[in-house]
Amino acid sequence: METMQKGFSSLRCGLIGEHLGHSFSAPIHALLADYSYEICELAPHEVGDFVKNSRLDAFNVTIPYKETVLPYLDTISPEAKRIGSVNTVVRRANGQIDGYNTDYFGFDAMLTASGIPVQGKKTVVLGTGGASKTVQTVLSDRGVGELVVVGRTSENNYENLYLHYDADLIVNTTPVGMYPKNGQTPIDLSHFRNCKGVLDLIYNPAKTALLLKAEELGISAMNGLYMLVAQAVKAFEFFTGESAKAGVIETITKRIASRTRNIILIGMPGCGKSTVGKILAEQLDRSFLDADEEFFAMHGITPADAIKTLGEDCFREMEHEVLYELGKKSGTVIATGGGAVTRSFNYEPLHQNGTIIYLRRDLSKLSKKDRPLSQSTSPEELYNKRKVFYEAFADLTIDSTEIPEQTAARMLAALEMV
Ligand code: NAP
Repeated sequence: METMQKGFSSLRCGLIGEHLGHSFSAPIHALLADYSYEICELAPHEVGDFVKNSRLDAFNVTIPYKETVLPYLDTISPEAKRIGSVNTVVRRANGQIDGYNTDYFGFDAMLTASGIPVQGKKTVVLGTGGASKTVQTVLSDRGVGELVVVGRTSENNYENLYLHYDADLIVNTTPVGMYPKNGQTPIDLSHFRNCKGVLDLIYNPAKTALLLKAEELGISAMNGLYMLVAQAVKAFEFFTGESAKAGVIETITKRIASRTRNIILIGMPGCGKSTVGKILAEQLDRSFLDADEEFFAMHGITPADAIKTLGEDCFREMEHEVLYELGKKSGTVIATGGGAVTRSFNYEPLHQNGTIIYLRRDLSKLSKKDRPLSQSTSPEELYNKRKVFYEAFADLTIDSTEIPEQTAARMLAALEMV
């Protein structure tokens, strides 16, 4: 996608923080505008001098420097003052250095986009750090009902959380469940009998264990990507002094979500998952990961030998370890083993960051090469056992044709990636 707003190529922007290897900010700003956006990892003692004298015209600030920058600013916007931290700094032509907190606008936009009502609603905010303060400020401005902030060592903590099982809304501002510690959750959502909405500020994985639980319970839920993009769009407005075009937040959020989502292929042994997967990966310029090859790399034994020597149950446990690691990745194409769907514990690792596509193929056309279980059991028997699992796991079903390129093209069309 082309940069959405042009005419700012002379502007020098960027991001400061301590460890910025996994930051999504550069790709978001690259989609947003044609200014340069430099990633600057700084040591604590370098921050003051950077704010005062850097060559950048404007920059974002992330962990752990959102408070560190405060003493070096000439003005601090009202919302940043109330929150006590700044994440956007602009150096004016006259040398004045202004600070803002665009996370405030980001979370406010996320609330609006989620459609989850806040006014008068009892809300539990998990975590007491910087993001929690922003969330609390927005919620108060929105006329939230009782606001309960839960911290591990606070008056409201995880030991007495049962006092608040009647909350309407839950906002997670802790990093629990964030990559690479996928699968962890700060609370057991099933206790919250009145809960109508869950907002998780984490955006990697796309669905944390908390959001997966909300989905399972039929509770409205949203991850933090929209907030991240919305705060960047607000930063763009402060950087450039111009208003963003309508719909920019939605377009970029969709684009980043699609770029980071894994495409996961399931289907009968021999249905063409690897062949089609490799074509998709090449066309999208993504890595292709074959679960059978990853199995060998992790366990030092092929799936066929593991089934033969250790039995299917043991093999499935080992396969789960592989899928747990693969499912944490972003923006890859993954071909799974034909029987991965027979274990429900594989669903969440694959679903958290991926669109699961069932590649359906006429049984008479299945390849029999290197298929340990399909050699001892007829394809019909295997299919009758597994059909229900393929359908339960699948977000999309695509029929596999004789020409894998055509199958890949129909997948891309179904994923709206053409
Ligand atoms: P922070 O200042 O370090 O605060 C995180 C808070 O979470 C801590 O104060 C702590 O509260 C709690 N916490 C930490 N580890 C925990 C654990 N193992 N179990 C339970 N609670 C734990 O970080 P932050 O800047 O507020 O960011 C928090 C999260 O929000 C991160 O995941 C970050 O990526 C995300 N975030 C997202 C956006 C966005 O645009 N989507 C913006 C800002 C932040 P207690 O010690 O009181 O329990």
